[in-house]
Amino acid sequence: MSFKAIRVEKTDAGQSVKFVTLEDADLPEGDVTLRVTHSTVNYKDGLALSGKSAIPRKFPLILGIDLAGVVETSAHAGFKPGDEVLLNGYGLGETHSGGYAERARVRGDWLVKIPHGWSRAQTMAVGTAGYTSALSVLALEAAGVNPSQGPVVVTGAAGGVGSVAIALLAKAGWSVIASTGRAEEADYLKSLGAAEIVERASLSAPGKPLGKERWIAGIDSVGSQTLANVLAQTRYGGAVAACGLAGGMDLPASVAPFILRGVRLLGIDSVNCPMPQRLAAWDRLARDLDLGLLASLTQTIPFARVFETGAEILAGRVRGRVVVEIG
Ligand code: NDP
Repeated sequence: MSFKAIRVEKTDAGQSVKFVTLEDADLPEGDVTLRVTHSTVNYKDGLALSGKSAIPRKFPLILGIDLAGVVETSAHAGFKPGDEVLLNGYGLGETHSGGYAERARVRGDWLVKIPHGWSRAQTMAVGTAGYTSALSVLALEAAGVNPSQGPVVVTGAAGGVGSVAIALLAKAGWSVIASTGRAEEADYLKSLGAAEIVERASLSAPGKPLGKERWIAGIDSVGSQTLANVLAQTRYGGAVAACGLAGGMDLPASVAPFILRGVRLLGIDSVNCPMPQRLAAWDRLARDLDLGLLASLTQTIPFARVFETGAEILAGRVRGRVVVEIG
C-alpha cells in the first residue's frame, strides 16, 4: 500500500527533508503495523525538520517523534487490529521511522493504549511535550516537595512542556510562577492556572551562585543560564526537574545550591523512559488534565503545514501544543 510521509535523506550536500510517497516495504521491522491518524510538532520535531540537526541518526528515515493511530496488523500479544494506540519517543523519528507518515511499523512493546475517554487527537495534543510535563511533576512529587512548602516555577511557560506543566501543577494545588518571554501571553498562562508571571529576561541573564529563595520547586524546559538561576533561587531542600534546552544546552551554574541548600536537580528523559513510568505519566494526565483546558492550549494543523510550524516552534512563536492531522 502506498502512503505519504516526511522523510529525511542524507546527501553529499547535507540532509534533505521532504514529502515522499512510500510503500509498506519501505517501513522498518516491527511486530505492529498502524494506520497513523495524528502526530504533533514538538521542539525536537522542529529541529529535525530543519534538516540541520543531529536528531535523525539513521538515513533515510521518516521523521516525527510521536504518533497516534489504529492497529492494522499485530504479532504482539498485547495488541490486536482496531486497537487505538499512541507512541512517544523510543527513538521514533530518530533511529526508527516515525509519526510523520500515514503508516508506521513499530515494536508493540513501545505502544500505550489511548486513555479511556480520550481521542487520539487529544493524546497528540499532549504528545511528548505534555507527557514530559507529567514525568516532571511525578519526579517532583517523588522528591518529596509539595505545595505547602511554597510555590513552583515553570520556565518556557507558554511553550508545550510549560503549558501542560502549569495545568497539571495548578490542579495539584501548587501556586505556579510562570516565566515567559511573551508578556502578551499573561492572560493565557493565568487561564491555565498560573498565579504569577515573571519576565524571562529576569532569569536568563547571568546571576549570583545563590540568590533570594523564591520557590521550593521548578520545572525547567530552557536550560543554560535560566536553569542556573532557577537553582540559585530555589529554597532550602527544594527540587528542580530539568527537561529542556530551548535556551541552550550548557549549565553555567555553581554547586552552591546543592551543597549549601540541599537543592536537588532531577533529570527528565522521555525517550527511553521505562514503560511503568510512562504509564504512570499517562494515568496522571488522564486523571488530572482538564480536556477543556487541553483544547484551549492546542491548535490543529493539516499534514501539509508541518514544515512551517516546525520553523515557528524553533523561533519560539508556537503557543502551547500543536496536533497534526495525518490520516
Ligand atoms: P516549545 O518551543 O513549545 O517551548 C519552549 C519555550 O521555551 C518557548 O515557548 C519559550 O517560552 C521558551 N524559549 C524559547 N527559546 C528560548 C530562549 N532562547 N531562552 C529562553 N526561553 C526560550 O518547546 P517544547 O515545549 O516542545 O520543548 C521545550 C524543551 O523541552 C525543548 O528544549 C525540548 O527539546 C525539551 N524536551 C525534552 C524532553 C525530554 O525528554 N527531556 C521531552 C520534550 C521536550 P516563552 O515564550 O514562554 O518564554
